[in-house]
Amino acid sequence: MTLPGSPFLAYRGPDLYLDDVRLGDLAEQHGTPLYVYSRRAMLAALAPYQRALQGRPHLICYAVKANSNLAVLQTFAQAGCGFDIVSAGELARVLAAGGSASKVVFSGVGKTRAEMATALKAGVKCFNVESTAELDVLSEVASGLGLTAHISLRVNPDVDAGTHPYISTGLKGNKFGVAHEEAVATYRRAASLPGIQVTGIDCHIGSQITEIAPYLDALDRVLDLVEAIEAAGTPVHHLDLGGGLGITYTNETPPGADQLIAELLKKIDARGHGHREVMFEPGRSLVGNAGVLLTEVMFLKPGAQKNFCVVDAAMNDLMRPALYEAYMEIVNTEQRSEVATVWDIVGPVCESGDWLGRERKLAVKPGDVLAVLSAGAYGMTMASNYNTRGRGAELMVDGAKVSLIRERETIADLYRHEKLLPSA
Ligand SMILES: *Cc1c(COP(=O)(O)O)cnc(C)c1O
Repeated sequence: MTLPGSPFLAYRGPDLYLDDVRLGDLAEQHGTPLYVYSRRAMLAALAPYQRALQGRPHLICYAVKANSNLAVLQTFAQAGCGFDIVSAGELARVLAAGGSASKVVFSGVGKTRAEMATALKAGVKCFNVESTAELDVLSEVASGLGLTAHISLRVNPDVDAGTHPYISTGLKGNKFGVAHEEAVATYRRAASLPGIQVTGIDCHIGSQITEIAPYLDALDRVLDLVEAIEAAGTPVHHLDLGGGLGITYTNETPPGADQLIAELLKKIDARGHGHREVMFEPGRSLVGNAGVLLTEVMFLKPGAQKNFCVVDAAMNDLMRPALYEAYMEIVNTEQRSEVATVWDIVGPVCESGDWLGRERKLAVKPGDVLAVLSAGAYGMTMASNYNTRGRGAELMVDGAKVSLIRERETIADLYRHEKLLPSA
């Protein structure tokens, strides 16, 4: 059978391997649920971005929220990446992992004053500002500290929903960014504020985008704005085109990062903007197919209407299916020769929404270890302790080398910060 995504994940005989490590062995040694990532797969996903941008000023800012484990951040920091953060917590992670604040861009519609101050003192490269109100507060905070905030405005290109209905964050009706029509005036205001230095422009039109066309549409809209903003007297140094490139979960066929970037650069050059620093904020496309979630089959519950395969991972470990009805491939880490049956793969959490996969054809027995594929992005970072379930461990493999990069949470960890009421 062919597996989606990573060439680093493959069967050798009946056994599923990530890099040179047999996944069944990892489950046995470290228990389940268990996230396993391939460092090589992450670097291989980064390579086409780097190749395509070689020879021109650029910065690839890995979007931390996709997978914020320190070892993942360390991997990208060592590969020369910057980071796209959405909180002071993520900034702290980047610094703890050896990343440099001077390569950090700070996105998000709701930065607090305290977060702004922390990021200013750390010396982040740029605040991606999402509203006039935020701009005013940032100016106040920066001036109060005697510092200057370098900013870009996140503009909402309002890419035609009729043409590209799957784009979810670049449309007028959502909470992100400054409306296209207001951008020139907002830049004029930014240029007049103390404590603010305009350095760029950015957009981020959505996630799991599998076509180039919406990016090109958004780029045209952004370049129109850059020309209008500069004509009005405010220089714009860099273009940050956000993240959002999709991955193959099942049969999607997104463009390669190199192909996408080549087309974007062609337009940038053709319109006379080739001198600008170009930035991207990829998350999912760098880590999504570099990771799997391993889970053990506990019970099989064949039924009149449905067959349930109860596994030890649940919606608290991997929220995407429950939250977005996302399809993620599920395979047995040891292929069986028995006839496959159709199962709903469900977890132990007390919610009917707690499922990982529906109507999957699998040959399984209790004790088997299943792998949920493409789980490297928005997996562990969205995990919770719902039902007082500790979050699983995380491993990084590199060839045959295995490193524990996060310990499994203990039950004591789960209520460490809680207090009983004082006795009366
Ligand atoms: C989430 C996010 C990204 C990364 O998106 P992916 O789809 O994971 O590539 C980049 N930029 C911003 C502002 C984001 O919110």
